[in-house]
Amino acid sequence: MPDATPARKPLSAPQKALHKLGLVRDIDLALHLPLRYEDETRIVTLRGARDGQLAQIEGTVTNSEISFRPRRQLLVTLDDGTDTCTLRFFTFYPAHQKTLAVGERVRVRGELRGGFLGWTMVHPAFHAAGGELPDALTPVYPTSAQLPQAYLRKAVASGLKRADLSETLPPALLGGLQAVVRGTWTLRDALQYLHHPGADVSIDALEDRSHPAWQRLKAEELLAQQLSQFTAKQERAALRAPALRAAPGGLHEQLLGTLPFALTAAQRRVGEEIARDLLRQVPMHRLLQGDVGSGKTVVAALAAAIAIDAGWQCALMAPTEILAEQHFAKLIGWLEPLLAPLGKRVAWLTGSQKKKQRGEMLALIASGEAALVVGTHAVIQDQVVFRSLALAIIDEQHRFGVAQRLALRSKVGVAEDGTEQEPHLLMMTATPIPRTLAMSYYADLDVSTIDELPPGRTPIVTKVVADSRRAEVIERIRSQVAQGRQVYWVCPLIEESEAIDLSNATATHAELSQALPGVLVGLLHSRMPVAEKKAVMSLFTGGQMGVLVSTTVIEVGVDVPNASLMVIEHAERFGLSQLHQLRGRVGRGAAASACVLMYTPPDGGRLGETARERLKAMADTSDGFEIARRDLEIRGPGEFLGARQSGAPLLRFADLATDTHLLDWAREAAPVMLTQYPAAAEKHIARWLGGKAEYLKA
Ligand code: ADP
Ligand code: MG
Repeated sequence: MPDATPARKPLSAPQKALHKLGLVRDIDLALHLPLRYEDETRIVTLRGARDGQLAQIEGTVTNSEISFRPRRQLLVTLDDGTDTCTLRFFTFYPAHQKTLAVGERVRVRGELRGGFLGWTMVHPAFHAAGGELPDALTPVYPTSAQLPQAYLRKAVASGLKRADLSETLPPALLGGLQAVVRGTWTLRDALQYLHHPGADVSIDALEDRSHPAWQRLKAEELLAQQLSQFTAKQERAALRAPALRAAPGGLHEQLLGTLPFALTAAQRRVGEEIARDLLRQVPMHRLLQGDVGSGKTVVAALAAAIAIDAGWQCALMAPTEILAEQHFAKLIGWLEPLLAPLGKRVAWLTGSQKKKQRGEMLALIASGEAALVVGTHAVIQDQVVFRSLALAIIDEQHRFGVAQRLALRSKVGVAEDGTEQEPHLLMMTATPIPRTLAMSYYADLDVSTIDELPPGRTPIVTKVVADSRRAEVIERIRSQVAQGRQVYWVCPLIEESEAIDLSNATATHAELSQALPGVLVGLLHSRMPVAEKKAVMSLFTGGQMGVLVSTTVIEVGVDVPNASLMVIEHAERFGLSQLHQLRGRVGRGAAASACVLMYTPPDGGRLGETARERLKAMADTSDGFEIARRDLEIRGPGEFLGARQSGAPLLRFADLATDTHLLDWAREAAPVMLTQYPAAAEKHIARWLGGKAEYLKA
């Protein structure tokens, strides 16, 4: 029998490009909004124009010549009857020259620059004069190289025509919305308007997104996000997790008794918050945030002790093997001796394991003999079956993708009575989300914060210096090493140019080895085999290695209290939170520590504005929350929450820094809509989030 479904036509290149941008459904296209607009609705006169104006002018070509100074270019003089303007083209073809020949009438559009020698436009758009002027602004959409603007414009227009844009908001909520957006715009009106605004509108109000049409759209987006958060919360409330109680005289108490230090007040407080969650039969969903070095690991160990004591398993996951080892070495050192008398063990799972060893570990985990499972992404692979997982802890959670977090949550444990139990989830991070943002935006996330460092830390002195002072920096290293201290030197690794950066690091390694005779200088980079990395790390941790040159930002999450100097080369290439994390590698002991941020200005130029702001923020403060606040200021919350926290931007339109009134409305409306108008809520989520709804819950 022939196949009943007709063969699907292969997608054309622009269609593929559309899909790649996530523009699949009609509604996706309708919600793909212009980046900016071009005003082709009117022709301005040069006499009435102002410097910097984006303008369309029409006139006659009075001169056209190719000049060779300072470089080859086509210079065209246009006279519109009120003044003349020079058009400059650095690339041009014979057809262009023909359209722009002397005597032709042309219409050109571009940025007008007024100067000593009169008006100029560089590379304006142009065509022969004549033809009707459009009566709406022309939308310019965000697009990719494979997707021509004209094709995208047509696709968006037809998506907009076909999409179901019927009202999802029940009348009871509509009034409140109209009050916050100051207008009665429907979604359909708003989209129609934003895609094709009339000629009379202020482009500024459109582009700064303050226009009521924008407000309506942003309110809808925030509502969808809040609905999905509340749904996730409801769904979680219906799941069952084992209730875990710290038994008197049990592991939790024993661990507290063996710690070589007393907990800080903040550690005690967050420990209690976590313990309270674990007591409940609803899975915990908690983010533990605390600055680098604030002592999150011991809090995790105490939580693990509660779970293990209650007869369940605990899994700990870190983003890389070295991090897993480094972060959990202490934790294992504390717990293992307490587990042994109970006949329980610690199991390791990493990607580099030999098959045989891995098989043994999997068996330990399946039988339940391994009470604590520690590792990398290997922990969430399908073959890993837990006997009774009750608590999953993710360290450096921002380095994990959403899919990985979901995978960990899907590992279930089985209770004695045979029912499946969801694990409690504790995520840890040193790059905090500002608290107010976390509380209002992530309705489905509880947040605990360690806001104090253990006593006895000496503050780190941070210096920002140009690369031209390299020799001084090396001198500084020499004196630190002479005092028996150790030094990190970090070179950035940019993925696109991994090979180049690697050779930079290798050169730096050679340079430092030569400049520091008698000092063991090590090199660590991501391409090295794991065994070699471990060997280098152990020399550094053991104190034999004086200087460690590393490209791998993520692998330097080590705890070497004797390290007192951190040099970051090309510091301008790092993000603020990365810099802060790196700096946190020193200042872990009692010795005075320093961090040198070395920057390389572009050839003959100055560093860019944001790079300078970042370095200044680093020099100004070492408080992780203040750093997070500055980061937010420099980058904006969209990027903060989106790209960094989950790998995909969550909010396209709304801006949490300026749209708090809309967020407040959405937070109130979402629970009402979910309970009283569930069908409308579902439709609203589907419209806005499509297949991404699941992801927002992680
Ligand atoms: P992070 O929050 O960055 O994961 P760690 O858990 O690695 O921090 O702790 C940093 C260091 O501080 C470790 O050496 C840890 O043993 C130590 N530490 C943790 N809590 C305390 C405390 N209350 N008093 C003294 N030292 C502590
Ligand atoms: Mg840590």
